[in-house]
Amino acid sequence: MQSPEAILQHTFGFPAFRGVQRAVVDRVLARERTLAVMPTGAGKSLCYQLPALALEGTCVVVSPLIALMHDQLRAATAVGIRAATLTSADDNRAETLARFRNGDLDLLYVAPERASGESFRNLLRQSPIALFAIDEAHCVSEWGHDFRPDYRMLRPLLDDFPDVPRLALTATADEHTRADILVQLGIPEDGLIVAGFDRPNIRYAISPRQGTGQQIAALVSETRGAGIVYSQTRSGTERLAATLAGTGRPVRIYHAGLDSATRARNQHDFVASEDMVMVATIAFGMGIDKPDVRFVAHAGLPKSIEAYYQETGRAGRDGEPAVAHLYWGAEDFARAHQRIGEVEPARQTGERVRLSALGALVETATCRRRILLRHFGENPPEACGNCDNCLQPPSAIDATETARKFLSAVYRTGQSFGVGHIEAVLTGQTNDKVRQRGHDALSVFGIVDGDEAALIKPVSRALLLRDALRTSEHGGLEFGPEARAILKGERAVKLVLPPKRERRRRYAEAN
Ligand code: ADP
Ligand code: ZN
Repeated sequence: MQSPEAILQHTFGFPAFRGVQRAVVDRVLARERTLAVMPTGAGKSLCYQLPALALEGTCVVVSPLIALMHDQLRAATAVGIRAATLTSADDNRAETLARFRNGDLDLLYVAPERASGESFRNLLRQSPIALFAIDEAHCVSEWGHDFRPDYRMLRPLLDDFPDVPRLALTATADEHTRADILVQLGIPEDGLIVAGFDRPNIRYAISPRQGTGQQIAALVSETRGAGIVYSQTRSGTERLAATLAGTGRPVRIYHAGLDSATRARNQHDFVASEDMVMVATIAFGMGIDKPDVRFVAHAGLPKSIEAYYQETGRAGRDGEPAVAHLYWGAEDFARAHQRIGEVEPARQTGERVRLSALGALVETATCRRRILLRHFGENPPEACGNCDNCLQPPSAIDATETARKFLSAVYRTGQSFGVGHIEAVLTGQTNDKVRQRGHDALSVFGIVDGDEAALIKPVSRALLLRDALRTSEHGGLEFGPEARAILKGERAVKLVLPPKRERRRRYAEAN
């Protein structure tokens, strides 16, 4: 057998292993069961591709998406690995089966639903198996952000081949999810290998939305190089792309509503370009190998911290400075709380935990990187020096009193008006709506003035984020489950205000 170093250099053309790659490869070659948690870009594929070449037999790779499999297939074939995919989209299936039976395949990619079937199990008995690689292994856990029931069916297959090593791989697993993956896939606790998650060259920044298009256009204008802008909806990508075209940068769109030829062309243009902006839904990015992405912007709240880390991890894979900027709105949290109410009760707790982790990340006055890394089980220093909060420390204030006034006003106006009207009542504006409803006669009319008025909008955001307020189907604000405790003064509401200089700039922009 060639040494791992020799294969690394000759086949892959890399001078050395990176990070934990060597440790993972060693375990696999020693036939030990392993879960490798490595951030995007850390080089997971090599951890099974190299053993696939070193060990006798075929490495079976379970992967959740056909598009991802085809990207992997292209990359593997390009370095001379004998690989094939076995999916409904392939018309060369008979040929692939024959190659497998002849022992002519190093890698065979399959989807979990096929891998767990009886006929696939029979197929695997016809030729030696080197290794089971389970990619995106967080899909096996209900705790993960992407649960796929088919992954649960893999266990009997794995257990049918007890001597074949198994390697589970994921970029996105918090501690809970990791423990669950180990149990679900029958991997011992000491089989867990976690790579350093820090991406020190990425500068994290998070701000409330105030005219997203303008905010992101400013980011694009002040950042050189190619970048990705994530929007939550297809129509959002179209709108943002139109705005960003005004910056003079080339812009492309990517979402599931475009035909596959257009998607492929736009993706190809982006990968080849040095200054293009790709405005996309999260359908874009998996399996894309572009090391020089200089910024990733989120126009709305991502699904989870894991998803955020994976999406921002597409920036700066070449190690050069890159920026990740998230723009969030209270509506994002309101909508997410509402969605959680609609999922099956068994999953609500997990979803709430995930959402409140996001809330803590966007609202913190402390180092963003520290919150992210602690989420992945690391214990980083107090300050990283390369996130918005470290670079321009914001001020934190206690806004409990303003929050209580806001909630009282929502209550006294009948829980059916939006932020604008509540603000008008609290600051004592006698506009038509206020007068017609008789809200100028309420005890809460005009109880906020001076500097405190500037806190009203941030307070409304904080209340929506905490589920103390919800948006009704008619668009009015109503009490959520957390409202009472705040109103009674049992719970404080701390607010983070942007640094003074930033505040002045925003003020100047807004006027
Ligand atoms: P992941 O799946 O973890 O996101 P990939 O397997 O796609 O990462 O690898 C990311 C990039 O790093 C690829 O371009 C790959 O060729 C490169 N790479 C992997 N291992 C090494 C290494 N040891 N040295 C240099 N480059 C590497
Ligand atoms: Zn920091």
